[in-house]
This record gives sequence, structure tokens and C-alpha cells, in this order.
Amino acid sequence: MSTDALADGFGRVATDLRVSLTDRCNLRCNYCMPAEGLDWLPNAEVLTDDEVIRLVRIGVEQLGIEEVRFTGGEPLLRKGLVDLVRRTKELAPTPEVSLTTNGLGLQRTAHALAEAGLDRVNVSLDTIRPDTFATITLRDRLADVLAGLAAANDAGLAPVKVNAVLLRGVNDDQAPELLQWCLDQGYELRFIEQMPLDAQHDWSRTEMITAEEIFDLLSGFDLTPAEEARGSAPAEKFVVNGGPTTVGVIASVTRPFCGDCDRVRLTADGQVRNCLFAREESDLRTPLRSGASDELIAQRWRLAMATKLPGHGINDPLFLQPTRPMSAIGG
Ligand code: SF4
Repeated sequence: MSTDALADGFGRVATDLRVSLTDRCNLRCNYCMPAEGLDWLPNAEVLTDDEVIRLVRIGVEQLGIEEVRFTGGEPLLRKGLVDLVRRTKELAPTPEVSLTTNGLGLQRTAHALAEAGLDRVNVSLDTIRPDTFATITLRDRLADVLAGLAAANDAGLAPVKVNAVLLRGVNDDQAPELLQWCLDQGYELRFIEQMPLDAQHDWSRTEMITAEEIFDLLSGFDLTPAEEARGSAPAEKFVVNGGPTTVGVIASVTRPFCGDCDRVRLTADGQVRNCLFAREESDLRTPLRSGASDELIAQRWRLAMATKLPGHGINDPLFLQPTRPMSAIGG
């Protein structure tokens, strides 16, 4: 392991950088934020495109980052997104670049993002029923999301991945139809256990649909564990009905995968989070804006990783939810 790497005290090395480009969103998913939204970050605190690229470049050139995922809030709200993707792909060694989005606006931008070099896209979609979509997101925009998925597929960002959260008594009974629909479309569906990262701090373990319940809901399908090694991937993958399409289950709470974690996060206001559930952050924006060298910024980033805890601690009795909500951290 090179001394330049983003290593922690448990032998893990972060090579997958998640960059939140904004904390703003154009949906109001009720398991993520309140209907009125949140107090958004002041623009002056949000990294400029040049600052984002400088930090990503330092990560790629000096810290062994191999994958860059742009997230939000909703990253398609970021005006310079296409150019950020292009400039990231121009870095050497060239990182893999992906995007996590709610799909609004993807119909308009999918081809430009693909031309800029985007490799993969994950679209959040919890239902294919317009009424349930409106109940969860407080917006009547399902058709736009579906059109965005089709455009991403058409632009060659395949296999398009769909991330779905099941909510008890809301869309949990729709899991089989959502999987069948994704199979028909050729999209790779992943069910994600709801995590305690909502801005309202309403998360409840008993309300959460567990991985075991997800498997029960999908009992009508033949699910065979995928042969490919999982590595550090969050999703446990299963071949559906003999394949080729797979379905994934990301069970952060009941089947945590922190032992192989290779992720590090950068918030839209320039803070390093060494874990999704980190309760401390390391500020890179201040040194960035006060003339620090790339080497000094890289060193501060390494130090931020050294204090990474072995896991998220959700199952510990003393667990405390981070103050920063998921909408300002990104997937
Ligand atoms: S919860 Fe933290 S340590 Fe665990 S997999 Fe996610 S980012 Fe890694």
C-alpha cells in the first residue's frame, strides 16, 4: 500500500470518491427531507467548478482515486455538470465517472453527459405508479424520470441502474412489479435498506424494510447469488430467473459491508467525510481558498481518512445520527 493512499487504521484504502455537487433537490422524498425543503448552503460556501476539479485532480493524481461519482442533492441541478464530467475524464490516470440522480432533466442531458465521457448512471426510482411517486416525492414527475431512464439507455449509459427504497405500507408491496418492470427494460435494480440519514431524524428500525423482507417480497422470482466477487461493492447481487439481468440488495443496516469500504466523500461545501455516517468532517475549502499547495491539501485529506471508524455504528446502542442529512452528503 503506497504511503500516498487514502488509508485508514483498518487497512482499507479509499479509491472511490463521491462528490456532492449541491445540497439542493427538486424532489421532496418524504424519507429524505421535509416538504418545505431545507436551508440550502449559501452559494459562497459551495465549491466552484474549478475548485471541484482541483480537489478531484489532487485525489486522482496524488491519492489513488480511481472512481469518481457525482451526487447531490440532485447533481443535474448543477449548471456545469457536463463540463465537470468532461474535465474529470481528462485527468490522468483517467478515473471511471458515474452519476447518481433522481432522473429529472436526464432526458435533456443524457447524450451530452455520455459524450463528455460519463461511464455509468444510477437513477433513484421507488415506484412505477404515478400516485405512489407523488405520495413519496410530493411531485407529479414520474413520466420525466422514466423518460430520463430511457434517454440514458439510449445514450449508451448501460446497464442503467435503478436505486429503490421500500417504505412500509407505501411501496413495499410493489417490489415485485418494480423488479419485473426493470427486467423488461433491461435496467439493473437495487433495493436499498432505508438508512438513518433523513433530515427530519424520523428513521425507525421497525419501519425499515429489511433485506430479509425484501427477499420475501421477491419470493416469486428465482434469485441466485451472482458468481462475480463482490469486492467493496455495496450491493449483494443476485441473478434473476437464470439471468442475464441481476438484482441487488444494499443492506447497510442489517448486513453491513463496512469491512471492505473503499469510499470517501466530498461535500458541496468542500468537507471530507471519511464515512457516510461520519460525525466529524475535515475542511478542505479553507486551505483551498487560502493558497495552500496541492501537497498540503493532499496531506490534510490523508489525515482525514486516518480517523475513519471501523463501521457506521448504526447497530450500536450509542449510535448518533450525523447532523448533516443524506441530501447534503450524497449517495
Ligand atoms: S457506512 Fe461508512 S464505512 Fe460503512 S460502507 Fe458506508 S461509507 Fe463505508
